[in-house]
Amino acid sequence: MNIDRDRYYLELALEEAAIALDENTYPVGAVIVDENDQIIAKGRNRVHTQQDATAHAEIDAIRNAGKSIFHAKVNREKFTIYTTLEPCPMCTGGILFANIKRVVWLLNDDMGFGGYKKIQGTNVFDRKFSEVDVVEEPFDDLKEKQKELMIRWSSNSNHVTNLRKAVIQE
Ligand SMILES: [Zn+2]
Repeated sequence: MNIDRDRYYLELALEEAAIALDENTYPVGAVIVDENDQIIAKGRNRVHTQQDATAHAEIDAIRNAGKSIFHAKVNREKFTIYTTLEPCPMCTGGILFANIKRVVWLLNDDMGFGGYKKIQGTNVFDRKFSEVDVVEEPFDDLKEKQKELMIRWSSNSNHVTNLRKAVIQE
């Protein structure tokens, strides 16, 4: 594992997360990179920007990767996905479907919708999971930056808690 390389792409994913927050949606960003350090695609959460509950950063990146995903599968290339938050159950499935072989995330999401480790822990899709290397929370300083984005998100008017308050006040 190349630490500098991982750090570089996680910083790019953080930039995407910050853009998402500026767009008033969940601050999560993702970047897909191939074995030759080529950026295949970037993605960010678009749940509120597109009014699509499934528009998570990892799914967005996989969609943006387009045919590269299938090309990699056919040619047995190993893509890495960098994401700022532990993938949820849907994105965990998406990552397995996309045949991505390495997942690196900045911040665990045990209390939220983090699903990668939970699903892996149930011993289903063992063979699929066994083909994927996981790196969780490799950089404390970048992890803190993601935490700060999440704290800022909690006061955003699109955060569900605040949306509910707005309904009560109507
Ligand atoms: Zn997700």
